[in-house]
Amino acid sequence: MTPFPRDAYAPLEPYAPDRRPVPLDLSDNTNRWGTHPAALEAVRTAPVEALTRYPSVYADALKEAISRRFGVPVESIATGCGSDDVLDSTFRAAGEPGDRIVYASPTFSMVDPLARMNGMVPVPVEWAPGRLPSPEQLLAPDPALVYVCRPNNPTGEVPPRGWVEALVEAIGPRGPILLLDEAYADFDDGGFLEQAATSKRMIVVRTLSKSFGLAGLRVGFGVGAPEVIRQVEISRGPYKVNRLAEAAAVAALDDAQGWIPGVIDEVRSLRSWLAAELTERGTPPLPSGANFLLIPVGGTGAAPPAPGAAARIVAGLREHGVATRPFTDLVGIHEGVRVSIGPRHELERFLEAWDHVMGAQR
Ligand SMILES: *Cc1c(COP(=O)(O)O)cnc(C)c1O
Repeated sequence: MTPFPRDAYAPLEPYAPDRRPVPLDLSDNTNRWGTHPAALEAVRTAPVEALTRYPSVYADALKEAISRRFGVPVESIATGCGSDDVLDSTFRAAGEPGDRIVYASPTFSMVDPLARMNGMVPVPVEWAPGRLPSPEQLLAPDPALVYVCRPNNPTGEVPPRGWVEALVEAIGPRGPILLLDEAYADFDDGGFLEQAATSKRMIVVRTLSKSFGLAGLRVGFGVGAPEVIRQVEISRGPYKVNRLAEAAAVAALDDAQGWIPGVIDEVRSLRSWLAAELTERGTPPLPSGANFLLIPVGGTGAAPPAPGAAARIVAGLREHGVATRPFTDLVGIHEGVRVSIGPRHELERFLEAWDHVMGAQR
């Protein structure tokens, strides 16, 4: 008899981020400008059938909208209930229970649990800021899948394009699947969607939870070669994108020039502005290609200060009405505070709180 709970689940806990209400939430990188007006309109004017009938099995209308927007063929697109669902399906499609999932770490906190949920073995490889592991280091553990987040959550670092190409080259035509998580690629150089559509080994995963402002509706997608995508869809199963989510996502995707590029431009310029403000205060953030900044707060080098700095600062910011996210065990920088980029008045409010808390720390 298999023990219950099963052994692979022993290290797992329910996901429990701090979701207590707060006046200003800059903790989860969702869109602080709201959502696309056409997406909201689609939900508000949805017909009764959007609730009473099943959605299409594999979200065909959504795939067509993604194809129109990003210029990749429909056969190269898989969708899901958030990109977490696409990551989950891809892990499962790429390997058997017991196989290894290698990832450059620190990275997205869901990678380790998603691997374990599938009975697979997560293998982190150290990624200090500015010091990416080599393709050889990532491939040495003989993984079924290599996960790379670009731009990376929580550091914001963007692996150079040449590094990704060298990794694809090292993997070759029969190596492990490379999963590039491009949740934040809109805020940087747009990523590798086109290459993924024809690559035999690379899958790019995107979400509508961040730049599109649709986190509440849970829509994500993956792009890869048709034969790879087919396996991801088999692994995923039917009916994962509900009708309201699909209608809203299609409306937002079909507007290539309007609301979303405007938000992206603002995020980029406010990211530079906030980085300069923090640097002036003696707390420079890491360079970021995403809609957040990670501020190292745990000292550097051989002599880290006492642990707990990030948790203390985040608790202090919350007392001033601002939610951020603490990180510990970060290779090279020990601890950090991650803050999402919002409109200017929100960042000014964050800086006011930061000054209070950091003043009190000294
Ligand atoms: C936010 C985020 C996601 C998005 O997940 P959804 O399930 O689409 O909301 C995926 N990957 C990374 C790295 C993220 O930060």
